[in-house]
Amino acid sequence: MTYDLSPRPLNPAFPTPAMTWPNGARSAVFIGFDVDAETAWIGNNPSNVDRMVTVSHGGYDARVGIARILELMDELEVKGTFFLPGWTALAHPAACEPIVKAGHEIGHHGYLHKMPDRAKLEEAMEEIDRGFEALEKVLGVRPIGYRAPSGENFPELLAYLQKSGIRYSSSFRDDILPYRHRLADGRSGPVEIPVNFAFDDWNFGMTSRTSSRPLFGRREVLSLWIDEFEATHGWGGVTTMVLHPQVSGRPMRWHLLRDFLQHVKAKSDVWIATGAEITRHFESVAAPQN
Ligand SMILES: [Zn+2]
Repeated sequence: MTYDLSPRPLNPAFPTPAMTWPNGARSAVFIGFDVDAETAWIGNNPSNVDRMVTVSHGGYDARVGIARILELMDELEVKGTFFLPGWTALAHPAACEPIVKAGHEIGHHGYLHKMPDRAKLEEAMEEIDRGFEALEKVLGVRPIGYRAPSGENFPELLAYLQKSGIRYSSSFRDDILPYRHRLADGRSGPVEIPVNFAFDDWNFGMTSRTSSRPLFGRREVLSLWIDEFEATHGWGGVTTMVLHPQVSGRPMRWHLLRDFLQHVKAKSDVWIATGAEITRHFESVAAPQN
């Protein structure tokens, strides 16, 4: 494989259009969960399948995390987007069905959570096809939103997502407002609802024997999240969260998330919306770009 390292914008997306949020809101909050379950541990490291304790980090999703998160969303009366690898839906149908029943959006998160790799085009496309198949079979839904497993993407994959009916992606880190991707051939691609990596709970709350990371407590993370949210709110952006039930469904982190979302809800001028709602809004206010 040779690499084209010539100087050019490595994301050729269209310029970000000016944005006004519905009902006079100053900013938007997109509560996204990645329900990886065991795939976070076996997708990129298949030998972990024989390590029952290692994969039990992911098993927490189905045994405890998903139900607790649904409880919290219900209490706060907010809707979110749950990005599911197809494997998770097939392995844990009983844990996943209540997500749909509660009226949350289901997003596509690959099949086995393999990080998209441009050197393995066939595998990357297969992850998309099998993900759709599993979600349709188990939950009867065909998502319009996609968050890349392990947060990676490349031009051929963006084009394949567009062709497969994906209307928005939520993985890139290069803006605070939604924008539209431009495919390599110049055509319009999906809308991007960029994420803020400061809102990825894995960074602060996941550690394991084989991948040891420092853990951050409630006060540090809450103050980081509130400050980051307030500043994004001031700039009129979208606060996109990357949460995992195997992290934020743990007792202390559940309370931390609850405290944060209560802080957000206490403001009258924030639009809390799913990825699909933000995409529809973007499509209605932004002029077509071709
Ligand atoms: Zn994930």
